[in-house]
Amino acid sequence: MPHTLVAFHAHPDDEALLTSGTMARAAAEGHRVVLVVATDGDLGLAASSYGSGSSLGSRRLDELAVSAAALGVARVEHLGYADSGLGPVLYDDPPGRTRFVRAPVEEAAGRLAAILQEEHADVLLTYDANGGYGHRDHVQVHRVGARAAELAATPRVLQATVPRDLIVRALDLVAKVYRFPADFDQDAFKRSFSARADITHRISVRRHIRAKRASMRAHASQASADDGADRTLGMFLKIPRPVYDLVFGREWYVDPAHHGPVRRDVFEGLAESR
Ligand SMILES: [Zn+2]
Repeated sequence: MPHTLVAFHAHPDDEALLTSGTMARAAAEGHRVVLVVATDGDLGLAASSYGSGSSLGSRRLDELAVSAAALGVARVEHLGYADSGLGPVLYDDPPGRTRFVRAPVEEAAGRLAAILQEEHADVLLTYDANGGYGHRDHVQVHRVGARAAELAATPRVLQATVPRDLIVRALDLVAKVYRFPADFDQDAFKRSFSARADITHRISVRRHIRAKRASMRAHASQASADDGADRTLGMFLKIPRPVYDLVFGREWYVDPAHHGPVRRDVFEGLAESR
């Protein structure tokens, strides 16, 4: 029986890194997949040729549409908030819009819950309580996602994450061959994402790697920089395929309501009655 999966993300391109394989797999297996972003990513870093502010935001929503098409997504929605940015400064709201982290949780959750109800969503994908590496908009996705699922009575909420020991080991390896920028805080990852013991769902997406790479490639602005420096997305796409498949061939989730063996499918055990 087909189910409906709603993936909720902070910015265009977050879906590519964290949940694109799960989304592509669900769509390929005949389920309905909906992608919701809170913000248009208008404060994202990009080469100046991509514009800035709302012109960058609209470019990034176009990139999101290309990514969604590659993944087989049936519907894409933007909740209308502005990017809160990553640095120490939280900028003023742009005209007519609120930066996501300043949005009242109840209001943002109401917007998301309306979509969950309309779609009769069975599964909502959000983020772990750390917001992954701690971006303020990602922490807000965790809060808003949890509340929206309550409002809409969505049966399952899965928090996208990565086992942090895997990240720490991968960064140790990368550090042997690659010099991180001076402001890159490698130790911060020891407190980020989730402990392996907390992970309840490990999803193999190896058969959907092409779609996942296409999703990453779609976000060209996020692989760009004026000085030609490596950006995370661009760096990942340069990893040779066998290693890439090994690293990106699985996706992980925490379901605080699930106790028992690690599940291999996001829909496993859902009631058939909805
Ligand atoms: Zn993000």
